[in-house]
Amino acid sequence: MHIGIPKEIKNHEYRVGLTPEAIAELIRHGHQVTVETMAGAAIGFSDEDYQRAGAELGSASQVFERAEMIVKVKEPQAEERKRLRPDQVLFTYLHLAPDRPQTEDLLASGATCIAYETVTDAHGRLPLLAPMSEVAGRMAIQAGASCLEKARGGRGVLLGGVPGVPRGRVVILGGGVVGANALAMAVGLGAHVTVLDRNPDVLRRLDAQYGNRIDTLYSTSATVEKQVRSADLVVGAVLIPGAAAPKLITAEMVSGMCAGSVLVDVAIDQGGCAETSRPTTHADPTYVVDDVVHYCVANMPGGVARTSTQALNNATLPFVLALADKGAKQAMLDDSHLANGLNVAQDRLTNRSVGEALGIDS
Ligand code: NAD
Repeated sequence: MHIGIPKEIKNHEYRVGLTPEAIAELIRHGHQVTVETMAGAAIGFSDEDYQRAGAELGSASQVFERAEMIVKVKEPQAEERKRLRPDQVLFTYLHLAPDRPQTEDLLASGATCIAYETVTDAHGRLPLLAPMSEVAGRMAIQAGASCLEKARGGRGVLLGGVPGVPRGRVVILGGGVVGANALAMAVGLGAHVTVLDRNPDVLRRLDAQYGNRIDTLYSTSATVEKQVRSADLVVGAVLIPGAAAPKLITAEMVSGMCAGSVLVDVAIDQGGCAETSRPTTHADPTYVVDDVVHYCVANMPGGVARTSTQALNNATLPFVLALADKGAKQAMLDDSHLANGLNVAQDRLTNRSVGEALGIDS
């Protein structure tokens, strides 16, 4: 199969669909790959790296002309959608539910569109979303620790403390993928960490792993309020699948937090779990409400685009290889989890939630 990797054109997107290492695997399987010139240059994957891996270089239009399958990161932008053909497979993040123009264009293109975010695994999880949650969770502590410094508006607290001085207090709301990764980093820095979740199994698992190095608490409004008020750094990492994030932190709770404390609301891409949260960007990541520094970057993994690309590739490569080796139809017949990723099949919408969200038959 001929696989095409265009350079991402969405504003401030530096990730790339496949790394040179992933492309070398495809070449070893007997496939051809065209990569757009400079597709990975911003994150240290040079054109020469891609050529050494066995890829040809080309312009965006050559990539789309030659490819039977396009592998990307972000949803195709309007000018990319115009280039898609009925005989092509598109494999990327799509997030169609809130995006009618994109959905209509993909239906009109006739292409087979498989969305990373709806591919499942045997445990009912979303394996192509998990790597980005791992990145965001780990980054939350790095970002939060930096915001606690005086120069960034924080209260001047070092999370690990020093001998004779108390450690910083980190409170993590939600102990799923983001929360567990934030926890690992916070414990690593030597902070005092409390995790709240409303799923007792999550709390049991974290307690078994960390023992008395952390506190676990069942999440109620009362426990959230008490913990948030005494925290130096709060990480919002809750998710209710298919719904907006619950507003666990009220504006009143924020006003009761210490001046210079920090809220990193990772759940901002689902609306945020604090009443005072609003989306920010890497260019201007923070703002202050009632003396509390808010970091609410909606695309945190984009800030560490090289690591994120590698993490995403580790998860996508087995599926890319299956699609290329067997063809999309057979690969999806053989793997119902990959088939769950199918959102648009030629001119039909095939994902029920997207159909319901947009009022289109699926
Ligand atoms: P997950 O499903 O693995 O974990 C969510 C956890 O929240 C679960 O353990 C669940 O039990 C818990 N939860 C639900 N309601 C709760 C409540 N009332 N109190 C306490 N815990 C509660 O999800 P995840 O992959 O960890 O993602 C967490 C959030 O981070 C999501 O909103 C996701 O969209 C977001 N996210 C954002 C970025 C970003 O760049 N900003 C990147 C990745 C993920």
